[in-house]
Amino acid sequence: MEPGVLIIVALAVASAAATIAAVRRGRSLDRALATIQRLLTADAERERVVADRSADDAALHETVDAGFVRVDGSLHIRDANGLAHAMLAHQPGGLVGRSIMEAFLDPTVERLARHAIDSGSASGEIRSAGADGPVLAIRARRLSDGDVWLVLDDVSELRRLQRIRAEFIDNLSHELRTPLTTVSLLAETLEREAEAVGDAIPAKMRDRIAKIEVETGHLVQMVNELLDLSRIEGGGTVQLSDGVDMSNLAAESAERLRLFAERQGVTLRIDTRPGLPRVRGDAARLGQVVVNLVHNAVKFSPDGGEITISTDADDADVVTSVEDHGIGIPRAARDRVFERFYKVDRARLRAEAGGGTGLGLAIARHVVEQHDGRIWVESEEGVGSTFSFALPIQDGGDPGRSG
Ligand code: ADP
Repeated sequence: MEPGVLIIVALAVASAAATIAAVRRGRSLDRALATIQRLLTADAERERVVADRSADDAALHETVDAGFVRVDGSLHIRDANGLAHAMLAHQPGGLVGRSIMEAFLDPTVERLARHAIDSGSASGEIRSAGADGPVLAIRARRLSDGDVWLVLDDVSELRRLQRIRAEFIDNLSHELRTPLTTVSLLAETLEREAEAVGDAIPAKMRDRIAKIEVETGHLVQMVNELLDLSRIEGGGTVQLSDGVDMSNLAAESAERLRLFAERQGVTLRIDTRPGLPRVRGDAARLGQVVVNLVHNAVKFSPDGGEITISTDADDADVVTSVEDHGIGIPRAARDRVFERFYKVDRARLRAEAGGGTGLGLAIARHVVEQHDGRIWVESEEGVGSTFSFALPIQDGGDPGRSG
């Protein structure tokens, strides 16, 4: 082939290759453009979804009857709904940008927010804007981006009603206690006198006098329990002292019920371990917890039953237990027995134990919680129940060093 022809052929091949490459480049450019377009659309869509969601959140926050405050990691407010502004006495929008301390004027809220940042959630209660302001229950929850939502509930009315109820119960119980105690003492005297007179008084009448004595005793106990509960719930007086020996205390407290148990045909077995570490506590109140548990154990045991009162300790706690082999507690009722006035089955209680306020375990739980302890029950219907409470061991509370 002629050199000129060769050159022409080479040039034609080169230009064809260039054309093909250009087409290819064009295609990949198109593809790149299409990808960018898709990404941009997805981004816009995502932004739209986020905007919709925060509009939905804002609408929800204005609808729900609670204050919402969003704070960032430096504890400054990013967002707050209308109700939160009203609760904290600020003009709409006036909270945004302020620090928590400026907005709430209470260091508790700062603590709650920090706690939520560290551990995910926290809750507490404050009285905002001084002594006359609303009482706010605050729940703090950490979000995935590190911000924290504070949800505010105005519980002023609830707390006011609770105070009125406590005052009412307190007044009523005081008013009832004096005449009832007198009636109870008179009934006791009457019963003794009737016994002394013997057959001169018909058996039926003696029986009735005995019943009056028992029932007034129940009434006095109920009124005392009501008073105790209102005192304890009112933030009451726990006199914490060092070196309480739960083994001694449990044994002594249980002994107080030995006579009552014998009358019901029930045996008390005291199996407390000597030399356990001490706890810090109010011995009178903790003794009352043991009495309440043993009292119940006797009430719900059959004639001939046995109750064991025991103590033990692990690294952190001293545990006191009262075990009976009585009627037991159905599964569904086990968490509820510690509520005020709760009874598993009123008919069963009346028939077998002649009444009760449903307050004994509520009092026990309050006392144990005032001591930073916990109380629980294990039970099986028809087999028996074991009530236990654990109290933290006092620092340096080994028996050798305190007493
Ligand atoms: P109450 O004055 O009625 O005994 P408590 O608060 O002490 O009030 O107990 C609440 C309820 O829990 C009781 O009414 C009873 O139904 C149930 N309960 C408590 N202790 C026992 C027990 N040892 N065995 C079975 N049921 C129990």
